[in-house]
Amino acid sequence: MLADAPDVTLLAHVNPDADALGSAVALGIALQRRGATVRVSFGHPAAVPESLRGLDSTGIVVPVEEVPAVPPLLVALDAGSVDRLGVLGDRVAATAAAGGEVIVLDHHVSNTRFGTLNVVDDKAEATAVIVLRVLDELGALVDEPIARCLYAGLATDTRCFRVATGATYATAARLVEAGVDPDATLRPLLDTHPFGWMGMLATVLGGASLEPDSAQGLGFVHAAVRAADAEGLRGEDVDSVIDILRTTREAEVAAVFKETAPATWTVSLRAIARLDVGAVAESLGGGGHRLASGVTLHCGLKEAVDQVRSALESAPSLR
Ligand code: AMP
Ligand code: MN
Ligand code: MN
Repeated sequence: MLADAPDVTLLAHVNPDADALGSAVALGIALQRRGATVRVSFGHPAAVPESLRGLDSTGIVVPVEEVPAVPPLLVALDAGSVDRLGVLGDRVAATAAAGGEVIVLDHHVSNTRFGTLNVVDDKAEATAVIVLRVLDELGALVDEPIARCLYAGLATDTRCFRVATGATYATAARLVEAGVDPDATLRPLLDTHPFGWMGMLATVLGGASLEPDSAQGLGFVHAAVRAADAEGLRGEDVDSVIDILRTTREAEVAAVFKETAPATWTVSLRAIARLDVGAVAESLGGGGHRLASGVTLHCGLKEAVDQVRSALESAPSLR
C-alpha cells in the first residue's frame, strides 16, 4: 500500500511525543521523496510542541484544518486506540467507509486494532523501530533527516536506551552512522526548560505525598500540577515532572496529576517493575504500557487520587 499510494495522511497521537511525531515524519519524508502527496498531523495541540520542532526538518506537518475529511490512505502511528487520535479520530471511520485503507503502526500492548491493516508489535521498543522495518521493506534511503526522527523516538521510548537489547543498540548505531548527532537531537527533548520550570518544580515537588502502604504495600508517590503552577510553561515542562517524581526510592508507583482543564486531571503513571500500571490506566479508561501509562479523569483532585489509589490495590502483579 505504502509503495504505491499517491496520497498518504499520517497521524500521530494527541499531545505527540518524539516517538509518535518522529515516526510519522520519518515515514512521511520517505513517501514524499518517492513522489506521493503526504501530510503529517495530530489532533492536539494546534502547533508542534517546541521541543519536537527539530524533527520536522522538511515542514511536512500541517494543522488539523488541512487534513482531508476522507483521506484515501491513512496511517496512525503510536496510537493504541482511535480516541488517541483526538479530533482526527473521525478520519478512521470516514476512510474505511469510503473503501480506503487505515494502517495502524504501533507497539502498545493495549492496541485495539482499529485499522484495516494492523502492524502492532508490542515487543518493539518504539513505533520508530516498526517504521524503520517498513522503510527497509520499501527500500527507502534512511539518511539524517529520517534517522534523526527515528533516533528521537527510540531514545525517548527506551528512557535513553535503558530498556534495550543488543538489537536496540545496533539500531541506534545504524542511525548515528546515518548522521544523527545524539546530543543535538536529544537536548531539546530532554534537557531544556525555561527558568520558570525551576519554580514550578519547587512548588509541585514540595507538595508531593508519599504513601508507603499504598500500591499493595509497595509504595505510592504522587504530586499535582495545578493550572496555576503550569502558567507560562509548555506542556513538555509539565510532562517532565513524572521523570523526577518516579525516582522516589520508597515508591513502586509514581503518579503526576496534571490539571488540563477545570475538574480535568490528566494522570501520568509509572511503575518500576512490580505492578502493571497499564492495566490500572485501562481500568480507569486510559491505557499505555505495563510500566508507563496514562488516563484523563473528570473530577476533583482528591477524587482523582482516590480513584488511582484504589485501582492500584487491584493492579496485576508483574512477578
Ligand atoms: P504519558 O504519561 O502521557 O507520558 O503517557 C505514558 C504512556 O501512556 C504513553 O505510552 C501513552 O501513549 C499512554 N497514554 C497516556 N495517556 C493515555 C490515554 N488517555 N489513553 C491511552 N494511553 C495513554
Ligand atoms: Mn507515544
Ligand atoms: Mn511509543
